[in-house]
Amino acid sequence: MRVRFAPSPTGPLHIGGVRTALYNYLLARKHGGRFILRIEDTDQTRYVPGAEEYILETLEWLGLLPDEGPRSGGKFGPYRQSERKSLYADYAQKLLERGHAYYAFDTPEELEARRLAEKEKGNHTFKYDARIRLEMTNSLTLPPGEVERRLSQGQPHTIRMKVPQGETIIVEDLIRGRVEFQSAELDDKILLKSDGMPTYHLANIVDDHLMQISHVVRGEEWLPSTAHHVLLYRFFGWEAQMPRFAHLPLILKPSGKGKLSKRDGAKLGIPVFPLSWDGEDLEDRFEGFRERGFLPEALLNFLAFLGWNPGTEQEIFSLQELAQAFSIEQIGKAGARFDYDKALWFNQQYLLRMPNEEIAARLRPLAEARGYQTSVAFLTRLAKVLKERVHTLNDFFDSGYYFFEPVKHYDEKAIRKRWKPERRPLFLELSRMLEELPNFQASAVESTVKDFMERHGLGFGDVLPILRLAWSGTLKGPGVFDMAELLGQSTCVERLRSALDSFDDTLEVG
Ligand code: GLU
Repeated sequence: MRVRFAPSPTGPLHIGGVRTALYNYLLARKHGGRFILRIEDTDQTRYVPGAEEYILETLEWLGLLPDEGPRSGGKFGPYRQSERKSLYADYAQKLLERGHAYYAFDTPEELEARRLAEKEKGNHTFKYDARIRLEMTNSLTLPPGEVERRLSQGQPHTIRMKVPQGETIIVEDLIRGRVEFQSAELDDKILLKSDGMPTYHLANIVDDHLMQISHVVRGEEWLPSTAHHVLLYRFFGWEAQMPRFAHLPLILKPSGKGKLSKRDGAKLGIPVFPLSWDGEDLEDRFEGFRERGFLPEALLNFLAFLGWNPGTEQEIFSLQELAQAFSIEQIGKAGARFDYDKALWFNQQYLLRMPNEEIAARLRPLAEARGYQTSVAFLTRLAKVLKERVHTLNDFFDSGYYFFEPVKHYDEKAIRKRWKPERRPLFLELSRMLEELPNFQASAVESTVKDFMERHGLGFGDVLPILRLAWSGTLKGPGVFDMAELLGQSTCVERLRSALDSFDDTLEVG
């Protein structure tokens, strides 16, 4: 099995593209095959600088490393289509010689004029096809001498494939079953453009053949093109080696209505790209799963389930386990709903299962990026007390910021409900008791607080919320004694004292 992921570097890689890469990778691993990365960059008008690096960085972050590709090399290179340009022209030539392709000299203006004329006649989907081709300026309609003359003068031209008439073209898809196309519906696709570059269709077929691709696994949006591809395999005489096709189901919006688009990310405030992307204009800037604090292994697990299921109840799979369990037969036909909450759930499951030291190692660069001076030892303890309450790596800092800097904001509503100013002297006494503790482990803090409660006839509800508010500003968060231990003695004592002032202020202002 030789499979390929063949993205075009036209912008950041959409999450659907990442799923395609993952499925190809899993199939290669499962069957002991090869996973090939091919960069399809023949459309110079759509080329976006940085997009190829983005693709490579994504695959690296996720650990989906190609066995062959522009960086890793391989026997079938080069793996960037722009570096294979001369090859495609030779193949287009072969099709010309065999009568499966022809030169077309129509200028863009002529084509546009014809499109408009057709529109006036009520034909809104103008296609350069078998019906039209004999009315156009091409090597099928011009005398041979005239074709020669135009070519030798270097007149701009394209090469188009000559779709046969009156045929049913059959695509045997491994996911969708038998799909039939009528050749009358197919246009004479351009194979070689006037700049000498191949189109996607020609380059894709030539490369899949030369790179000995056995299975083409790609998004459903490519299914209609497959009819043209099947014809090209036949024109070249490569039918016997034609790859098997598997078209993956669409990824749907969270609402389940319609295809997930990159705009949905911005609209719904959820990531739909693996990594962040800084486009030129605001509309073209996206936050990625990585920057949101997702673990790559959790994202892969989530993506694996967007269109595939193992047929069992098991949901948590390592990449290796996925590779074992994966099969094309278990890929569904129906669109898969992109459920961001499910992605968060997967990430949480991975955090819960991950050793605290490992979480700490992943938190470290994030802490540094936020300018926090900290150690792996501290982050390990943070992981322990907080991991059951977070979904992403960022959550550790977003909801646990008070472990790194002073409390920025107190929950006013909670203060109004819980704070009784007449208890101020009692809490000052508690702060002294805490100050005198010889060790500040959670258990020591706990027994001190309990002593204090007994002495003054107070209940948990009278004391713990006040400590929480003082130490973290909110009533949420980890166990209050764990919190104390992690914050440390002096911070807890200071925060308690200064919070009492803030609490009184809050009540006065109210
Ligand atoms: N270059 C195409 C893309 O951007 C590849 C489609 C295919 O896999 O054939 O998705």
